[in-house]
Amino acid sequence: MRQKYGQNFLIDNNIANNIVKASNLNKHDKVLEIGPGRGILTKIIQPQVKQLTLIEIDTNLYQQLKHYFFFHDVENVNVVNVDFLKYSIPDMKFKIISNLPYNIGTAIIQKILPLQNWTTAIFMLQKEVVKRLSAENDRKNYGYMSIFTSYYADCTILFDVSPKCFRPSPKVVSSVIKLTNKFSLPPEPIFFDFVKHAFSMRRKTILNCISSFKSIGKDRALQIIDNLNLESALRPDKMSTSDFLNLTNRMKKYTISHI
Ligand code: SAM
Repeated sequence: MRQKYGQNFLIDNNIANNIVKASNLNKHDKVLEIGPGRGILTKIIQPQVKQLTLIEIDTNLYQQLKHYFFFHDVENVNVVNVDFLKYSIPDMKFKIISNLPYNIGTAIIQKILPLQNWTTAIFMLQKEVVKRLSAENDRKNYGYMSIFTSYYADCTILFDVSPKCFRPSPKVVSSVIKLTNKFSLPPEPIFFDFVKHAFSMRRKTILNCISSFKSIGKDRALQIIDNLNLESALRPDKMSTSDFLNLTNRMKKYTISHI
């Protein structure tokens, strides 16, 4: 069961305080916490904010949290027993704080980032995943999730957390990141499709990536590349988010009848 729900509980109060501090909470804030678990972050957040919504999939933990807040006569906490991936996020502005269940951390980030109703998110995740999310200048970890994240958010790595700070201990080091919503409108649908396609063949040239995308073919691909003054031997991992945006805008014009 623990494995299934990614349950590595934080046991270090200093780390918990630093995670919450990073969110700069105030009395007007509405906060969403995904996977409150035994409530180490929750109990620090609750007295500082106007409203706290907790989304916990594990029914036992949900009941324990419900009882705890009922017996402490706390009125600003709403506990919901649901899988966050199936939860309809309410239409209000909120901050997010979560020590994410690592098995579905990326899926949770993909659900949240495109939304317009969060302002900042403090997430703890595996260090390796955090490197991928924030890899703009780190070619080794640069990929689809780096571009997805940078399209929707500004990203700052805050600090690492040792496996010793959890029970049971995870096998890997964790990192805490802060994301700030850029409130970007959804891109053209081909943007993320093409980024995914390009990184699925990251050792190939951009000419190859374009030619093989939705059967554009080499002639059109060369036209597109010429038009943008791109180097045809460029690899996808040398291209920034805005390079991909320019490219897919151009591809859309050249291939409108095609895609
Ligand atoms: N916040 C606690 C802490 O810092 O100790 C617990 C963190 S633990 C890494 C992840 C938590 O997310 C667990 O309580 C787990 O039950 C919960 N969880 C796992 N999958 C979930 C899902 N799909 N929706 C909501 N909660 C989930």
